[in-house]
Amino acid sequence: MFRPPWGIIFGKLSKGNVTVAGDAMHPVTPDLGNGGGASLEDAVVLGRHIGNSVMNNGGLIVPGDMAKAIDDYVKERRWRAAMLVTASYLTGRMQQGEKWWIKYLRDRALYKYFSGWLARLVFVYDCGRLPAISFGEMDLSSKKD
Ligand SMILES: Cc1cc2nc3c(=O)[nH]c(=O)nc-3n(C[C@H](O)[C@H](O)[C@H](O)COP(=O)(O)OP(=O)(O)OC[C@H]3O[C@@H](n4cnc5c(N)ncnc54)[C@H](O)[C@@H]3O)c2cc1C
Repeated sequence: MFRPPWGIIFGKLSKGNVTVAGDAMHPVTPDLGNGGGASLEDAVVLGRHIGNSVMNNGGLIVPGDMAKAIDDYVKERRWRAAMLVTASYLTGRMQQGEKWWIKYLRDRALYKYFSGWLARLVFVYDCGRLPAISFGEMDLSSKKD
């Protein structure tokens, strides 16, 4: 599903215990080569929120709390995902544009001033620490699988 950046910022990205991640949340043009990286970020952030919920509930998955964990994941990812989608799209437009002023901006500004910023945007992101769950500390006796 195509989602414009404002659709990612303001749109509905979860319902109860169901949400989207990766390309389903933020399909990007290929210009920064970061769709897979952003999907992995989603996975870690989602895992952190779910993991913390499980930890805080004594190792149990509590449906109401899980919905909140998923909601918090969406809140945390919205702006970053929208920023990456926008940066990727604009970079593509600049790189492929044939108009003289786009070429001028690309050659004089994009590579000279913005490439470092773009690299930092894509590569420097702290997903936070995943909670360390020790199954030895939990009572999983009722767990069948
Ligand atoms: C040519 C190309 C080059 C790329 N290069 C890079 C790169 O250099 N760096 C980078 O970071 N990203 C790159 N990407 C982007 C990256 O591949 C994607 O952003 C990433 O794979 C998205 O991961 P995802 O898990 O969200 O979706 P996907 O990898 O598309 O996984 C979705 C999975 O769901 C399955 N599926 C779909 N419908 C159903 C269903 N109804 N039931 C069950 N399963 C279903 C699909 O078969 C698929 O396996 C590239 C993409 C392409 C196409």
